[in-house]
Amino acid sequence: MENLFELPSEYKDLRKSVRALAEKEIAPFAQAVDENHRFPQEAATALQKAGLSAAHVPTEYGGDGADALAIVLIIEEVARACAASSLIPAVNKLGSLPLILGGSEVQKQRWLPQLVAGKGFSYCLSESDAGSDASALRTKVERGKDGWILNGSKKWISNAGVSEFYTVIAQGDSSLGSKGISAFIVEKSDPGVSFGAPEKKMGFRGSPTCEVYFDNVELHDDRLIGEVGGGYILAMDTLDHTRITIAAQALGLAQGALEVATKYSHERKQFGKEIFDFQGIQFMLADMAMNIEAARQLTYAAAVKSENGETDLRFFSAASKCFTSDMAIKTTQDAIQILGGYGYVSDYPVERMMRDAKLTQIYEGTNQIQRIVIARNLPHY
Ligand SMILES: Cc1cc2nc3c(=O)[nH]c(=O)nc-3n(C[C@H](O)[C@H](O)[C@H](O)COP(=O)(O)OP(=O)(O)OC[C@H]3O[C@@H](n4cnc5c(N)ncnc54)[C@H](O)[C@@H]3O)c2cc1C
Repeated sequence: MENLFELPSEYKDLRKSVRALAEKEIAPFAQAVDENHRFPQEAATALQKAGLSAAHVPTEYGGDGADALAIVLIIEEVARACAASSLIPAVNKLGSLPLILGGSEVQKQRWLPQLVAGKGFSYCLSESDAGSDASALRTKVERGKDGWILNGSKKWISNAGVSEFYTVIAQGDSSLGSKGISAFIVEKSDPGVSFGAPEKKMGFRGSPTCEVYFDNVELHDDRLIGEVGGGYILAMDTLDHTRITIAAQALGLAQGALEVATKYSHERKQFGKEIFDFQGIQFMLADMAMNIEAARQLTYAAAVKSENGETDLRFFSAASKCFTSDMAIKTTQDAIQILGGYGYVSDYPVERMMRDAKLTQIYEGTNQIQRIVIARNLPHY
């Protein structure tokens, strides 16, 4: 029988090369990036040089045309070394996917090659009063003399200020509810765009998260993505594909924590033997490895469904994000437990991994929201 559960060799090779790059050029800076709350410029440069910061962009626009599973592997391997750095390819996919899914050929020709050249692309959906209920967003767009005028603000925007481009989801006619919402491409240099101070976060400290303000930003018609009123559906369709990248981050974090804990359990001696020899520790490591492998299979299956546009994608993407991020919190906490006091301090990376893992349960829809999506899309067997 054909081996359905073995990665084809090109994906194994991709994993190997991204792991080598991450270990050499990203991991050495992960602790400093976290401690100093600074953007992981070394990672950004290394990923850009290797063609990995926006590999999802189709080849006709200068990208690698990497499929959804390849992007998952890239993000997983970068997150294993430094989760904040893994947000570079993840945010670039999230920000540009509305354009890829719903934009015109002219728009794709204009913005996607610039993304490949290193100009980041962020995604602006959430607002201070519209998080889980994103359709309640109040950033307003109106017809102007020569196009559109955008006013309002977005909250919690990943890589804000670093990215050159922003997909902004705005309300054009609140009497229509979510059908009044449209999506626009906004540039950092557009007059009237400004940014708040970076949030002081528990984890992912290397990735700036800021408010973005729009003060009478004038946008020509060529900035509208897709149809007027089609922005909310586009935003939700985008998340169906990109929640899998959050699962990939959680997977990489959990894998990293398992490896640190396993190595430590062989090095640390108590009561005259390696702590690995205690069954209590072995059971924890066994659970960690078992849960990681289950999450990996689910996440890779979701990635293949994303690539093939399968009808059960919504269930699989929500399930992969929810299951893997819950698993990552448990796994990183257990890794800390295995390291004892040493796990609780920053000499080892597991406490950073746990702080980072927490975000994966919250963004791109909290895990309560994922469970609602899962329940509404239960599979029929
Ligand atoms: C570091 C960071 C980076 C982010 N990056 C981005 C970004 O790049 N772009 C972007 O647009 N957004 C981004 N977000 C926003 C993120 O997606 C939201 O924070 C998230 O969707 C939750 O919204 P909220 O914070 O307003 O929580 P709320 O919606 O206020 O939820 C509060 C609590 O209520 C629960 N809850 C809400 N509704 C229900 C319900 N119906 N049933 C059960 N429980 C419910 C939630 O699960 C949660 O536990 C980011 C957030 C963070 C923290």
